[in-house]
Amino acid sequence: MSAEWQPTACILCECNCGIVVQTEGTTLAKIRGDKDHPASQGYTCNKALRLDYYQSNPNRLTSPLRRRPDGSYEEIDWDTAISEVAEGFRRIADDHGGDKIFYYGGGGQGNHLGGAYSGAFLKTIGSRYRSNALAQEKTGEFWVDAHLYGGHTRGEFEHAEVSVFIGKNPWMSQSFPRARTVLNDIAKDPDRSMIVIDPVLTDTASMADFHLRVKPGTDAWCLAAMAAVLVQENLCDETFLAEHTHGEEDVRAALREVPVGDYAQRCGVQEDLLRSAVRRIAAAESVSVFEDLGIQQAPNSTLCSYLNKMLWILTGSFAKKGSQHLHSMFGPLISASSSGVGRTPVTGAPIVAGLVPSNAIPQEILTDHPNRFRAMIVESSNPAHSIADSAACREAFEALELLVVIDVTMTETARLAHYVLPAANQFEKCEATFFNLEFPHNTFHLRHRLFDPLEGTLPEPEIWARLVRELGVVTEEELQPLREAAEKGLDAYLQAFFVAVGTNPGLNKTLPFVLYETLGPTLPEGLAGAAALWGLAQKALMTYPKAVQRAGHADGNALFTAILNGRSGVTFTEHEYADDWALIGHPDRKFELAIPDLLDDLRALKDARPGLTTDEFPIVLSAGERRAFTANDILRNPDWRKRDADGALRVSAADAEALGLVDGGRARITTAAGSAEATVEVSEAMLAGHAALPNGYGVDFIDADGGRRVPGVAPNELTSTEWRDAYAGTPWHKHVPARIEAVSA
Ligand code: SF4
Repeated sequence: MSAEWQPTACILCECNCGIVVQTEGTTLAKIRGDKDHPASQGYTCNKALRLDYYQSNPNRLTSPLRRRPDGSYEEIDWDTAISEVAEGFRRIADDHGGDKIFYYGGGGQGNHLGGAYSGAFLKTIGSRYRSNALAQEKTGEFWVDAHLYGGHTRGEFEHAEVSVFIGKNPWMSQSFPRARTVLNDIAKDPDRSMIVIDPVLTDTASMADFHLRVKPGTDAWCLAAMAAVLVQENLCDETFLAEHTHGEEDVRAALREVPVGDYAQRCGVQEDLLRSAVRRIAAAESVSVFEDLGIQQAPNSTLCSYLNKMLWILTGSFAKKGSQHLHSMFGPLISASSSGVGRTPVTGAPIVAGLVPSNAIPQEILTDHPNRFRAMIVESSNPAHSIADSAACREAFEALELLVVIDVTMTETARLAHYVLPAANQFEKCEATFFNLEFPHNTFHLRHRLFDPLEGTLPEPEIWARLVRELGVVTEEELQPLREAAEKGLDAYLQAFFVAVGTNPGLNKTLPFVLYETLGPTLPEGLAGAAALWGLAQKALMTYPKAVQRAGHADGNALFTAILNGRSGVTFTEHEYADDWALIGHPDRKFELAIPDLLDDLRALKDARPGLTTDEFPIVLSAGERRAFTANDILRNPDWRKRDADGALRVSAADAEALGLVDGGRARITTAAGSAEATVEVSEAMLAGHAALPNGYGVDFIDADGGRRVPGVAPNELTSTEWRDAYAGTPWHKHVPARIEAVSA
C-alpha cells in the first residue's frame, strides 16, 4: 500500500469535497477529508468513504465497441473506432447538416474537464444543440436569474442570520461547503434561524426554527403569501429597492392583491407561522436562500424560483456578509445570458442557458421532421436512465442513425449505442469540476490522477483530440509556432497564442484542441488534459482581475501555475462584498424585478388548482429523493449501500393504513407512464397523499460470477415528458401523480 496520502476529491455530489487517499494496487484503500482543501476544509459526509465502489468497478469497459447488426457488440481497436466515428458524423453533417448532431452530457458531479474538449469537434462538424442534467433541474431558475440580475446567485449560509431552504434538504443533498457543519452551527446559535419549506419532515426540517410544511405542489401559494406579507406589512427594504432596482412597483402591485390567509390555508401552513417566518426574514441583518429540486421539479417551478428570490431581494439581502451573492465562475458551466431563449428545431421548446430541455429530446428525434436530430454523442452521462420517460428515450435513441457514447462502463444509454468509447475513470486522469459557485472565496481544484488509465481506455481529452485530428482541420504548420513557444515557457506561450489567434481567427473554433496539442505535451506527466485550463485562467483574470489578484495570482499564467501545483485546490477569486454590484449582468448594475409573464402567473394562482392528482392517480409521488445511500448513478455496485438496499418507497402511516401497506412489504406504483414494484417503508416524514422513491436506483450491475442485479426502481420508468415547466421545460419528477397498491406476498 502507498503510505503517501494523495489529495483528490469526492465525486458523488456537486460539492466535490477534498479528500486524501492511500492507494493499494488499483484500489482506494483509505480515505479521509482533506484539511488543506480551501472549501471543504476536511469535511466529508458518509458517502466519500465508499468511493472505492466506484474505483474498483469490475464492470469497466476496456475496448472500443461496435454494435453488430444483431445488436451484440464486437471489440475494435482505437484507430478503427476513431476513424469510423469521425467518418459517421462527417457523413451526417454532409448529408443533413451538422446541426442534426446532438450532444448530451459532458460530465457529472466531478468530471467536467473532458467535456471542455468536446467543443472543438462539435464546432468543426457544425453541431449546435446540446443538453445535460442542468436542463432537468436548474434552467427555470437560470431563466429567472437572467431576467432579475443576469447571473447566478448563491447564499452565504456560513454567515447568514436567517437561512431559508425551499424544497431542499442540505443535510442529505449538501450543495454548499461543509453543509452539515453549517446546519449544526445555525441550529445551535440562538441568534440565527433556519426556515424550511418542504412537505417532507426532512433531516433539515427537523432542525429548523420554522418548518412550513406545505402540501405537495402548493409551494407557489406559500411563496406568494410570504412575499406578499413583506409588501402588505411594509417590511421591504425601501432604500435598497429605490437605489438598486427597477420594476418594484409592478411586483408590489401584484403582491398587494394576494390573499395571504387564503393562500396559507391552500398550502396547508398556519397563517401565523407563515407570517412569523416572514417577519423573522425581514428583521434579519442577512438572509440566504437555497431552492432545489423539491420546487424545481414540481408544478409552477419557474414561478416558485421567481417568488423565493423576492424574499431576499425585497429585504435587500445582497452584497453584504451572510447574504445572497453573485459569484465568479471558472469554467463555462452556466451561460450568464440565459434569458436569450432559443427554440428547439422540431417542437420549438425553449432553450434556456443553451440547453435543450431534456423532456423535449425524444420528440426532437422521433419524427420525420427534416430538422430532427439524427445523431447523438453522449459523454459521461446516462440519459436513457436519467431523463423522463425512459421507454420513450430508448425508442428515440434506437431511432438515431448514429449514437456514440463515451463512458467508463456499459450504461443503459451505452447499450443503445452504435459505438462505445471507453474512458479512463475519474481517478485515472486529471479531472476537475466547474461547479465553482462560492462567494466571497471561490475555489478551483485540479485533481491529479492517482492511477494509470485502465488498459484499453483513454482520457476524454485524448479521445476528443483524436477525433479532431481525424477531421484534419488544423494543420501542423498552424500548431508549430505554439508548440515551440510552449517549450520556452508560459510567458512565451501567451504571446505566441495571441499572435496565432489574431492572425488565424479560424483557430478559435478549435481552441481546446489547439491548447491540448501544443501546451499539453509540455505539462507535467499526466496533466496534458489540464491544458484547456490555461485558457480559462486567462479568461478568469480578464473577467475578475482584482479578485484574482486578491487571491494571490499576479496574472493568468500565475493562476494556471497555482492550479497545476495546488494539489488540494486553490482559491482563484477573493471578492469584497461590494464586488457583487459589478457582477450584476445588466448594464446599469440594477435588478430588474418585473417579469410580466410571471406576474401574470402570480395573479392566476387565485383560480389555479395546485396539483395534478386525479381519482385514478391520487398520490403525489416524488421520484428521486436524496437519501443517505443515494448518489448519482456512477456508483453502480449496489454493495456500496449499507442501508436501503432496495430503495424503499416511503409512505405516510395514514396512507399505509388506508392502502393496506406494511413496513417491509411490497407495493405496486402505477403512473400514467409506467408501473413498478418497491419495498415499503412507513415513514413519519411523509404527509398523507405523498410518497417518495429515491434517486440512483434501477441501474444494473454484473457480479463477479456473472449474475445481474438491478436493485430498486428506476424512477424514470414512472415519469412522463409531458409534465414539465412552461418556461424551461424542466420535468416535474417531484410531483408525479400515482396509484399505490399493496402486493400480496
Ligand atoms: S457526497 Fe458530496 S458532501 Fe459528501 S463527501 Fe462527497 S462531495 Fe462531499
